[in-house]
Amino acid sequence: MPKIRTTRTKKAPDGFEEIEPILDDYARKMRDAENESHEGKRKSESLWPIMRISHARSRYIYELYYKREAISKELYDWLLKEKYGDTNLIAKWKKTGYEKLCCLRCIQTKDMNYQGSTCICRVPKAQVRAGTVVECVHCGCRGCSSDS
Ligand SMILES: [Zn+2]
Ligand SMILES: [Zn+2]
Repeated sequence: MPKIRTTRTKKAPDGFEEIEPILDDYARKMRDAENESHEGKRKSESLWPIMRISHARSRYIYELYYKREAISKELYDWLLKEKYGDTNLIAKWKKTGYEKLCCLRCIQTKDMNYQGSTCICRVPKAQVRAGTVVECVHCGCRGCSSDS
């Protein structure tokens, strides 16, 4: 399949070429997930693969900059501006207790059915009763508490 380059008219900052193959790979996985049949799945469940990929891509960018210090601030900002990563989610990862947060919906308790309570995936493993299935309805997360 030929590469589609129509969206990238302005020049990316230095270092982009090195991570581009990985970002292309995420884009391809994302397209596959979007085109996948939703038949026989619950509505929210069909979004899980897409949320997982977008999470993984944000994580990749976050780690490149904050953990591995492999990219410049300029490139990092550019990637977020071009929506390669979720700025709001990354902002949460910088906070204590949210280092592994799966998605923003899991901490937005307002529009949840079970008002006020924490999403099951945010509960530390030690506090989850034995036999409880940990599987978040929003993104399929199986536990993202910082203590587990
Ligand atoms: Zn979670
Ligand atoms: Zn989630």
